[in-house]
Amino acid sequence: MPNDNQNELRKLPSVEKVLSGPDLAPAIDRYSHPVVTATVREIIDQIRERVVKGGQTPPFDAIVDMVKHHLAVEWPGFLEPVVNATGIILHTNLGRAPLSPSAVDALSKILGGYYALELDLDTGERGVRAQSMEKLLQMATGAESALVVNNNAAAVLLILSTLAKGKEVIVSRGELVQIGGGFRVPEVMAASGAILREVGTTNQTFIRDFEAAVSDQTAMLMVVHRSNFAIRGFTHDTALQELKELAKQFDLPLVLDLGSGAIIDTALFGMTHEPTVAEAFASGADIVCISGDKLFGGPQCGIILGKKNYIDVLRKNPLLRAIRIDKYAAVAVSATILQYLKGQTSQLPVYRMMGATLEELDRRCGILVEKLAKAGFAAEVTDGESLAGGGSLPDETLPTRLIEIAIPGSMDNFCHWLRLGSPPVLGCVRGGKFIIDLRTVFPDQEDDLVRAIAAAAGKS
Ligand SMILES: *Cc1c(COP(=O)(O)O)cnc(C)c1O
Repeated sequence: MPNDNQNELRKLPSVEKVLSGPDLAPAIDRYSHPVVTATVREIIDQIRERVVKGGQTPPFDAIVDMVKHHLAVEWPGFLEPVVNATGIILHTNLGRAPLSPSAVDALSKILGGYYALELDLDTGERGVRAQSMEKLLQMATGAESALVVNNNAAAVLLILSTLAKGKEVIVSRGELVQIGGGFRVPEVMAASGAILREVGTTNQTFIRDFEAAVSDQTAMLMVVHRSNFAIRGFTHDTALQELKELAKQFDLPLVLDLGSGAIIDTALFGMTHEPTVAEAFASGADIVCISGDKLFGGPQCGIILGKKNYIDVLRKNPLLRAIRIDKYAAVAVSATILQYLKGQTSQLPVYRMMGATLEELDRRCGILVEKLAKAGFAAEVTDGESLAGGGSLPDETLPTRLIEIAIPGSMDNFCHWLRLGSPPVLGCVRGGKFIIDLRTVFPDQEDDLVRAIAAAAGKS
């Protein structure tokens, strides 16, 4: 090895020296000492390998920058909210519904301590898990009884496994849907031990198809809401009312997997009408299940609503122990449902975003375009459409205003740095421009958004 490189190797700082500089203190605070130490070690090892092969030891500051860069790439968005500038309100990969400020308040007030999750404070004995939450849900939806589990997939699994194991469940062929990455009706059915009896065709299913399939093996009639797609053209769906007659005649439960979780009419917020829980009961459904983090606007959970005699049976299934709701979700659901009862739905971020008017968006866009101009970016406001939910609702759109930003340099690099920045930002690209929809950006994130754009453009 040439002498030069012995010298270069001697210039390599120790792990301790790199760690102890003031520049990495914020990183140690954010990621912890062990995480940053491991990164420093990795970077110094990489540099040593290069120096041994004849390379040079970079200056100390450059090494610190390499460590910071590595941390940003390895831990993007770590414990930090993401700025969602995509205009997709229920973004499944971003955790769907953001919680309301009062749900967040309730969580921070209660969950640093103990909570009477399953204790009856009146008797001092073990009680029903999250009973006040269930009472509030009954009140807000008019259901006889309520039961909440880990998510809606678990709700469907519990319903099928309790009421239809080893027996047949009749479902229309047009409703054998796949939701998101994992929920497929035929697979959940198989996992539950129920036997799928599909009837009708993809586009047309009539009540006579259901009638012909009912036998002494039938345990349930099931309807699955087409949450993330629509069938148009030569179609026929069997009305819930017709199914109710058939279910009554053979004393079968009529179960509706509604998914979307609308308690109130989405038409009030400018969207097309999504079927509500109350409508489902009015049409004769015995059991309805919904996702807590879609239009309900709460945490991840599956809410089962319906006739008390059925829900009481579900409660006795040992499977419930494995999929029951946790205390965080129980508190967040209670605080969310309370907002419905108080008439404060506009405080739920999902509905606030849906209800944002074009005038309001215009005003916000105008201010942001000015801030972008000051930061050196050419931006314009154009018309566009926001999506209610990527994979959660059919292609429901709302007219919106978009900001188109010209980005110098590589758009791919820019978007990459924007995602890895702090806070991480997600937007869209169209026609070579970076596109922002402020509908899904919280107003207090706007300054951060401009800073993040400037920082990412500076790196790409
Ligand atoms: C979203 C959805 C599910 C799955 O719900 P998760 O809460 O994501 O488990 C099931 N069925 C329907 C109809 C849905 O829309």
